[in-house]
Amino acid sequence: MSGIDLQPLFSKESCFWCDGPMFDRETIEAYPELHQFRRHIKTRDHLVPLKDGGAGFTVPCCFNCNHAKGSLDPMEFRDKYRPDVPVEKVVQALLDAKLAHVAVAPRKKRVTKRRRVVR
Ligand SMILES: [Zn+2]
Repeated sequence: MSGIDLQPLFSKESCFWCDGPMFDRETIEAYPELHQFRRHIKTRDHLVPLKDGGAGFTVPCCFNCNHAKGSLDPMEFRDKYRPDVPVEKVVQALLDAKLAHVAVAPRKKRVTKRRRVVR
């Protein structure tokens, strides 16, 4: 690698899963020398897969981890691919996700059933 000091170019957030440094998309696009680090571009991972209702909550995630995780359940992904991530961290994020999810998608009011007329 050339003499570029990468440190100041890193995104402020590190990857939730591998804790690795990431680059913001704009940074990667601004520096052709960084194109080799495309797999470290910052993305957002829907901690809980969309198919399981995870819309509304994301964690910072490098492209690499996001790609590997796909639509796996977060704990399943952790056990299989990122066992170094403390279970507590995932649990805490899941708790946060639940709260965020409720905040984003408020419960629908129950539609009162029409009363059946008994004669
Ligand atoms: Zn990662």
